[in-house]
Amino acid sequence: MSDMETKLAVPKEVLEVSEALQAGGFEAYLVGGCVRDLIIGREPKDWDITTNATPEKIQALFEDTFYENDYGTVGVVTKSDDARLKVIEVTPYRTEGKYSNARHPDEVSFSDSLSDDLKRRDLTINAIAYGAARSVLVDEHGGREDLAAKRVRTVGNPHERFEEDALRMLRAVRIAAELDFVIDTQTAEGIAAQAPQLAKISRERVRDELIRIVQSPRPMQALYVAQKLGILKYVIPELEEGIGCAQNQAHSFDVFEHLMRSLQHAADKEWPLDVRLAALLHDVGKPATRVWSEEKKDWTFHGHDVVSARMTKKIMNDLKFPKETTDKVSTLVRTHMFFSDPEVVTLSAVRRVIARVGKENINDLLNLRVCDRIGTGRPKAHPFRLRKYMSMVDEAMRDAVSVGMLKIDGTKLIELAEKPGPRIGWILHALLEEVLDEPEKNTGEYLEKRAAELMKVDDKELRELGEAGKDRREEEDEAAIQKLREKHHVS
Ligand code: ATP
Ligand code: MG
Repeated sequence: MSDMETKLAVPKEVLEVSEALQAGGFEAYLVGGCVRDLIIGREPKDWDITTNATPEKIQALFEDTFYENDYGTVGVVTKSDDARLKVIEVTPYRTEGKYSNARHPDEVSFSDSLSDDLKRRDLTINAIAYGAARSVLVDEHGGREDLAAKRVRTVGNPHERFEEDALRMLRAVRIAAELDFVIDTQTAEGIAAQAPQLAKISRERVRDELIRIVQSPRPMQALYVAQKLGILKYVIPELEEGIGCAQNQAHSFDVFEHLMRSLQHAADKEWPLDVRLAALLHDVGKPATRVWSEEKKDWTFHGHDVVSARMTKKIMNDLKFPKETTDKVSTLVRTHMFFSDPEVVTLSAVRRVIARVGKENINDLLNLRVCDRIGTGRPKAHPFRLRKYMSMVDEAMRDAVSVGMLKIDGTKLIELAEKPGPRIGWILHALLEEVLDEPEKNTGEYLEKRAAELMKVDDKELRELGEAGKDRREEEDEAAIQKLREKHHVS
């Protein structure tokens, strides 16, 4: 099954680089994700060319190149305006030596044979080469057959290939999720057998694959597969605590399935990564807080929002997510139980929810609530009451919900003779607390008068006033966790 004449639509820039290599007396093949995507009619993310030329020879053939890595990859700079075509990566054929740590080969050596290069690739669908200048396809591992069968299969023996590099297991699950493929039986068996090797992979690389799974159109399916094959516990072990953890009567599913369905809804809606991660983790603390209520004859999960937020932070820190993402997702999780009955809730309570989650995040919080509801197995994404609550949010947003929206600022306070320092922040926050309750107080006149009074208050009291919101929340969180510990007799 090699050297088939086929015509694939390749951009001009890529063709030119291939032709230049050939004219220089070398072989040149497109390989990897771009060939796979071209064959199935998906748009390639980037264009990789492999060749028997050495990095020095590649550089000699092109005007503008750069070479700064250990793999021999030379970036050929084109004149294209398209970001994906600005740099075409050209890498010499490689063959990989022995792997002794399940992470990377002990040595990488260049080879003069395309077959060697294809053999070291992870999946058959990623190991098809296309000689663009001559329109020939080289498919030595049955990649096209697997593409037609929508099947993910390793090149060679799956056990060996996963033992060499454990990340390939997660790549297989991720690529299946992105393409809507199934994992071949033997490949799946290989994953199940080698799963523990994943513990050796850096958390950053695991995180990057997790992100791509979560961002794919089918994260629920992928995480179920990951769980069944035993690799989920090397990604987010805490999720497995939800398996078989039955919920109260409002839910049709156990905690795990509820989280999966919540995440899937976020994916169906094409909501951003933050919302997807919050949907995935919003109830991760439920198993730890579950208590049977004799009175209600049902399970209760008091404090699960607090515990889930703490766990979210720990999980995301462990996976080395950027602090900003972790903070946002854990804030969404912490706030996901906001009271939203529009018949009872007051506008000032709505303003407090907005102030707490941040006005830039309120939409994501509402979307998280939608995911949560869909995830229970109930039919409507936007029940009447949530829609009504959303209109209250719109109304509440017209008033000040952050310090920045106050009709007074730090500069003004300094003008009024307050010393620069933490007192400024405390005064502004204390003023915001008042304005959240009574938005009509947001006038320069009132706030200046009130600020003058607050300036006379001593540090300790002012700090309490200023951090009222924040401190109270942290104390409440600590108290909730303490109570849970006592209930579960753990410390
Ligand atoms: P996409 O570009 O859509 O992410 P891709 O298949 O191009 O998909 P890359 O991570 O860009 O993925 O890798 C490029 C190619 O390098 C792959 O198609 C595969 O042939 C090979 N490859 C990548 N990672 C590995 C690995 N861990 N083991 C073996 N081969 C790999
Ligand atoms: Mg690629």
